[in-house]
Amino acid sequence: MEQGSCDSCGDDRDDLVAVHRHYVTPEAWDTPGRLDRVDEVERWCFPCRTHYPHETSQEPSR
Ligand SMILES: [Zn+2]
Repeated sequence: MEQGSCDSCGDDRDDLVAVHRHYVTPEAWDTPGRLDRVDEVERWCFPCRTHYPHETSQEPSR
């Protein structure tokens, strides 16, 4: 875990983890659902990791 400001909510935290954000598009009557993974690594606090779709980055942390 890292210290700093969360890239999602901006709070100063000491529980940041490197993640890739997921953009989830719900299925609709004319389009299938999809999930886009953002290549850029962001650092998120625990509450953001609880609330928003993401995957943990496999890159070594700084
Ligand atoms: Zn946050």
